[in-house]
Amino acid sequence: MKHFNYHQTTEILFGRGRVNELADVVTRHGRKALLVSTAPDVPPLAQLYGKVKNILASKNIECAHFDGVVPNPTTGCITEGANMARQINADVIIGLGGGSSMDAAKAISVEASHPGTSWDYLFFKTPQPEADKLIPVVAVPTTSGTGSHVTQVAVVTNTEMRDKSALYNNILYPDVAIVDPELVASAPKFVTATTGFDVLCHAFESTINPGTGAYVNLLAWEAVNIVAKCLPTLISQPENIEYRTYMAWADTLAGLCIANAGVTLPHGMGMAIGGLYPHVAHGEALAIVYPAFAEYTWEAAIDEFAKLAGLLNPKLKQEEPREAAKKSPAEIASFLDKIGLNKKLKDINMPESELKTLAKQSMVLPDYKNNPRVATEQEMIELVSRSYE
Ligand code: NAD
Repeated sequence: MKHFNYHQTTEILFGRGRVNELADVVTRHGRKALLVSTAPDVPPLAQLYGKVKNILASKNIECAHFDGVVPNPTTGCITEGANMARQINADVIIGLGGGSSMDAAKAISVEASHPGTSWDYLFFKTPQPEADKLIPVVAVPTTSGTGSHVTQVAVVTNTEMRDKSALYNNILYPDVAIVDPELVASAPKFVTATTGFDVLCHAFESTINPGTGAYVNLLAWEAVNIVAKCLPTLISQPENIEYRTYMAWADTLAGLCIANAGVTLPHGMGMAIGGLYPHVAHGEALAIVYPAFAEYTWEAAIDEFAKLAGLLNPKLKQEEPREAAKKSPAEIASFLDKIGLNKKLKDINMPESELKTLAKQSMVLPDYKNNPRVATEQEMIELVSRSYE
């Protein structure tokens, strides 16, 4: 068995109704909390924010609410949130929402406690943030999802630079993650589909990343299995709480996988799409590039692509690995059809004139280098072009 490392510092409270324990968790750190979320622009979110504030008030926790997070959070909104954290002298930051809100909470913790802005602390820059300065973060996911509640990553978008990048440091793991599947039940169909597909991508890419190992593999294939079984049903039965619970579990498993192995080529491409076109949801960007990625890569990781194909279509489990792997791009496309995400770059109104820009940007983050087949510049242009229409 190959060597592996496994690291995780987040305490996980998993199960329906566990959001009610939020106040007890917060009081471990103090009495002044900054709640970080997107705007209450739909009734379920407004209700949820009200409920969380009541839970906090029941233990006399002072709560200021920064509800200015935008999907694919921008450096500008992080600065607004950090100013608020400083103003109230926050003891703890609660990221309540999807990956955007949880990542914003982590980035706000850094910016509120360090000089400069969150963009100054991207993973490749020095100095890096210091652990003893950070404000503790409690993550409460409302999507299943990005796994951000159990990762050391905070993805931020710099709109001026048209760039999406990440803070990545082992001191950024949330202190506590409260994973309450009931909070995800209100996620609309599109959010359920895009975030659910992100879970599959995290898990699968972790199995082909050179950083993979026995522990990650165990978690990853369980997550892929759950997504393959539950996600298409959830699209038509969003109120199915049992499947929501399984998806919250798969999201958590896949988050643990990316924290310990990592993603590959599609995520590098997806991040580039998000940086250039911030209106595109993260999981939507991944869905757009996945069939071309699979077509390009399957021969370099036959066992993994065969296993993926067999989980998406159990009939393929009987086939020779090479034959099953060869069919994986078609199986992925068919799965995307089932969840309403069989899309191309043209569908997101990307100008065709920017194909080369996107290809170049897809090679900025190191993710593509961790793919079993590493794309040259020309191959990246072809991958982007194949994803166009
Ligand atoms: P999101 O957080 O951007 O949320 C999408 C939309 O869904 C928002 O409008 C939000 O208000 C709404 N929403 C969320 N939960 C809801 C609910 N229960 N009911 C109704 N509406 C709800 O989406 P996301 O996909 O979870 O997060 C995407 C972000 O996470 C991207 O910036 C992505 O790059 C990042 N990300 C981070 C990591 C990590 O490890 N930190 C991993 C993958 C992706």
